[in-house]
Amino acid sequence: MSALLVRHVGELVTNDPALGDGSPLGVLTDAAFVVEGGRVAWVGPAGEAPAADTVQDVGGRAVVPGFVDSHSHLVFAGDRSAEFAARMAGTPYAAGGIRTTVAATRAATDEQLTAGVARHVEEMRRQGTTTVEIKSGYGLTVRDEARSLAIARLFTEETTFLGAHVVPEEYAADPAGYVRLVTGPMLDAAAEHARWIDVFCETGAFDADQARTILEAGRAAGLPGRLHANQLGHGPGVQLACELELVAVDHCTYLDDHDVAALGDTGTIATLLPGVEFSTRSPYPDARRLLDAGVTVALATDCNPGSSYTSSMPLCVALAVREMRMTPAEALWAATRGGALALARRDVGLLAPGARAHFLVLDAPSYVHLAYRPGVPLVADVQSA
Ligand SMILES: [Zn+2]
Repeated sequence: MSALLVRHVGELVTNDPALGDGSPLGVLTDAAFVVEGGRVAWVGPAGEAPAADTVQDVGGRAVVPGFVDSHSHLVFAGDRSAEFAARMAGTPYAAGGIRTTVAATRAATDEQLTAGVARHVEEMRRQGTTTVEIKSGYGLTVRDEARSLAIARLFTEETTFLGAHVVPEEYAADPAGYVRLVTGPMLDAAAEHARWIDVFCETGAFDADQARTILEAGRAAGLPGRLHANQLGHGPGVQLACELELVAVDHCTYLDDHDVAALGDTGTIATLLPGVEFSTRSPYPDARRLLDAGVTVALATDCNPGSSYTSSMPLCVALAVREMRMTPAEALWAATRGGALALARRDVGLLAPGARAHFLVLDAPSYVHLAYRPGVPLVADVQSA
C-alpha cells in the first residue's frame, strides 16, 4: 500500500482537539499528515513527518477536512427562477411551491434526473463538499419516490426518504390517506434505497401527529428519523425531534426557550441552513443562542430549486459568521464535523488517524478566509480517495 505525505501545511484543521491546540478545531501550524489506503495514517508537526512513497507540498497553505453537507434535495427537474424573482419582488415564500417541482420531476426520465444529480454533486465537490446527504421528496408516488432514492444512491450512502415533503395535489382532500400511503407501500418501496426518513413538519405540510406516525413507521422499517422543523414559524417539530431523540433536526429558525433547552438536554443536533434565509429574504436562526446553551450546531446547504438553490458550503460558512453570530471556527466545525455527526458519521469531517482522508487545500493561509473572503473560490484542491 503506497503512502502519501502531505507536507508544508501552514495551518491544518483536524477537528480533533487532542491533535492540535486543544480547541474543537484541533489546529496545527507547520504541519504534515500521511494518507494510506484512503485513510489518515499519521498527523503531526512537519519536522516529525515519516517518509512516504509520494509527497504533496501544499506550499504553506491551509488544509481543512472536506465539507459534510448533511441536507440537500438534489433529485429534481425543472427550474423555479421565476418564483425566486417574484419573491424578491415581494411575494412571500410558502411550502406549496414544492408542487411545481413535483410535476416536473414526475415528468422527467431516470436519465434526466440522474444527470441533474451528477451535475449538482460535481458542483458541490468543486466547492469542497466530499460527503453529501440527498433526499427524495419531489416524486410523492410509490414509483417516483423509489426511483428518486435509487438515483440518489448512485452518488451517496446518505439517502433520505422524504415522501412526507408535502401532500401531493391528488391527495389534497385526503391527507390521512396520503400518510397511510407514505407509511405503507411507499415506505416499503423506499426502504431498500434509503438510510434515513424525514418529514417536513410545518403549517401547509405535515403536523406533529402525522410527523410522529411517519417517523415511527420509518424507525420500525429500520430508517432512523430526521426532521424539517420550525422553519417558517414556531411549531412543534423541534420538541418532537427531541422527544424521539432524533440525531438531527433541521432549520430551527423559530425557537422558544423550551426548544433551546430541549436541544441542549437531548443532544439532538440543530442543523442550520442559512442559504434558505438568504434566498427567501427571511430572518436567520440565532446560532449564538444555541451555542451558548450548549447545543451542537451543524451547517448545510438545503440545496433545492425552491428555497435555497445554492450548493456552496463556503457560502453557508460566510453567512453563518456574518448573519448568525458564529465565529469562523464554530462555522467551519459545524460545516465539517457538525455535519458528520448530524449523519451519525465518525469517519468523515475530521483529519485524525483512522478517518477517511477527505481534505481540501485552500488558496489561503488560514481557514478564517472562508468567511473573511465571501464568494471567493478558495478551494484549490479536493481529495477524497
Ligand atoms: Zn430541506
